Amino acid sequence: MGVRVLYSEERIAERVRELGMQISADYSGKTIHLICVLKGAYTFLADLSRNMQVPLTIDFVRTSSYGECRVSNEDVKLVNDLDDSIQGRDVILVEDIVDTGFTLSKLLSLLHDNQPASLKVVTLLSKPSRRKISVQVDYVGFEVPDCFVVGYGLDDNQRYRELSYLGVVD
Ligand code: 5GP
Repeated sequence: MGVRVLYSEERIAERVRELGMQISADYSGKTIHLICVLKGAYTFLADLSRNMQVPLTIDFVRTSSYGECRVSNEDVKLVNDLDDSIQGRDVILVEDIVDTGFTLSKLLSLLHDNQPASLKVVTLLSKPSRRKISVQVDYVGFEVPDCFVVGYGLDDNQRYRELSYLGVVD
């Protein structure tokens, strides 16, 4: 089985730089609290955070995963909660991919309950054609068709996270 390249390392770096500049401009004068959704968003977080020109704090959250199944599950649960309070902070949730939207929708309602000053979402990838629930996404790296994407942090049953590019398993 091979992995067909969807976005090269260079193309990703360019897009992440653009996102960093755009978000920094939008949050000029503020401190952003980034919340990374583990595990898939870890590479994106590392690169995005180094492309931001405003002060940052960073926390991590983890939701229940698909396990060995690629099919999304409406019953999203938090596995790891946040270390720090988000009350009164300008929060941006950092996602790897928004597919049906169930995960993001659940996370946003949990975070809203904790009264952040503001709450936005940046996702590396979005699959609009797969959406089953309407959900707010403020910044998108790339819109992808209905295919299963791996690499740059994203896995297929824990494999391929280490790839420096984004690809599709053939
Ligand atoms: P949703 O709840 O939006 O259906 O699913 C979001 C989660 O499903 C993502 O955070 C990711 O973990 C997983 N996911 C959805 N599509 C893909 C994909 O194409 N590749 C990988 N590796 N994970 C995906």
